[in-house]
Amino acid sequence: MRIVRFSPSAADPSLNLGTDPLFGVVAEGAIAVITGDPLYSGIKPTGQVVPISQVRLLAPVLPRSKVVCIGKNYADHAKEMGGEVPEEPIIFLKPNTSVIGPDDTIVWPAISDRVDYEGELAIVIGRICKDVPKERANDVIFGYTIGNDVTARDLQKKDGQWTRGKGFDTFCPLGPWIETEFVPGNQRITTTVNGEIKQDGRLSDMINGIPEIIAFITQVMTLLPGDVILTGTPGGIGPMPAKSVVTVAIEGLGELTNRLSNHG
Ligand code: MG
Repeated sequence: MRIVRFSPSAADPSLNLGTDPLFGVVAEGAIAVITGDPLYSGIKPTGQVVPISQVRLLAPVLPRSKVVCIGKNYADHAKEMGGEVPEEPIIFLKPNTSVIGPDDTIVWPAISDRVDYEGELAIVIGRICKDVPKERANDVIFGYTIGNDVTARDLQKKDGQWTRGKGFDTFCPLGPWIETEFVPGNQRITTTVNGEIKQDGRLSDMINGIPEIIAFITQVMTLLPGDVILTGTPGGIGPMPAKSVVTVAIEGLGELTNRLSNHG
């Protein structure tokens, strides 16, 4: 199932669906609207169907509390960052205020001179959990979407830790939907900037797999429904020129496209 969160307000006002974000299940270019947020209330169709072309897709999940990220989880990326593969996963947080949706604009902060893409597989957590054993990791996953761990690389390097460089508003595009039946394997993941492929990897190249990541994070912190985990980026990172169009694509999941603003 592909679950979208959307706003009808940018669309045909005759849809008359109210102004709050709505949720639906996508099939063949149409959205079957459902009641409430599927993370909390299950999938209950209202009977209303709208063409996907007539709505504005939002980030498919707005994390209640946090986006947890894994650093250096692909060997070729660890190498290009000038380091060895870390012994244990490196985790850090992006604030939920950094989340934007498909086609939203990434805003280039005035205090940075270099804004990078990092295409990543994103896990959406479906239930409250702590100390999840690897064998039970699948039980806490609601589904998967695509993420872009946008990074002010100069500030990341300058600070020696990553909160500022990765925490700006708009620095966590997510979307276009949550795929509940996706099974991570060796699917291709690419990041394209202005039509040129910059990152081209396989999910199977991750150093720590999904069960290991969930077990590791939940040793530390409780995860809540709607929390998101970004699983790391393949090699090929780099800066985006102003007004770039950046697309992260994952085989079987779809494509997430955003535009970078002018230098702030
Ligand atoms: Mg990253």
